Amino acid sequence: MAQEMSFPSAGHHEKDSGAVGSGSTEFINMNLLRNKMTEILKARGQKFETDLNHETNSIYQGRIKPVKGDVIMDLHQDAGPESATGITIVVSDNAGPDSLNMAKETLDGLARITRLKSRGVIKASMTPRKTIGILNKAGTAILVELGFITNKNDMIVFYDKIDEIACFLCDMLYKYDKNK
Ligand SMILES: [Zn+2]
Repeated sequence: MAQEMSFPSAGHHEKDSGAVGSGSTEFINMNLLRNKMTEILKARGQKFETDLNHETNSIYQGRIKPVKGDVIMDLHQDAGPESATGITIVVSDNAGPDSLNMAKETLDGLARITRLKSRGVIKASMTPRKTIGILNKAGTAILVELGFITNKNDMIVFYDKIDEIACFLCDMLYKYDKNK
């Protein structure tokens, strides 16, 4: 029996800070959120692995060894025209029922907490990148697009609700971890 394990990751890192907007970067915002989550997971005694800020995505993805039943959650923010707003969850094109259920519940919960628009659950092939490596590792996996960094109101809400968001995302990691 594998130990219970989740893999929350900040997505971007020091060498690729992601989208820029509202005076910040995806890396800065998601590093903040990820660190709040890992503090909660530590306090709850939940076992996890996370990306280090100097690791590229391929180094992190090569280091972690999730198994069936583990949970991966990669954290991002969208970018677009100033008026674009809301939450999107991305899953693998081959996502199984656990990933799809986790995606829907996470989307609904984040939309409830932030009151931002729910933009739906989409497949990786519908994103500009077409394939997203971390979603194809073993285990249940989702990628969260937590509002638009290019939308000032989305970011006001993000900072206002960040503690509630962190708690909720940790609840999702725990609920969908089938190895506990
Ligand atoms: Zn990103």
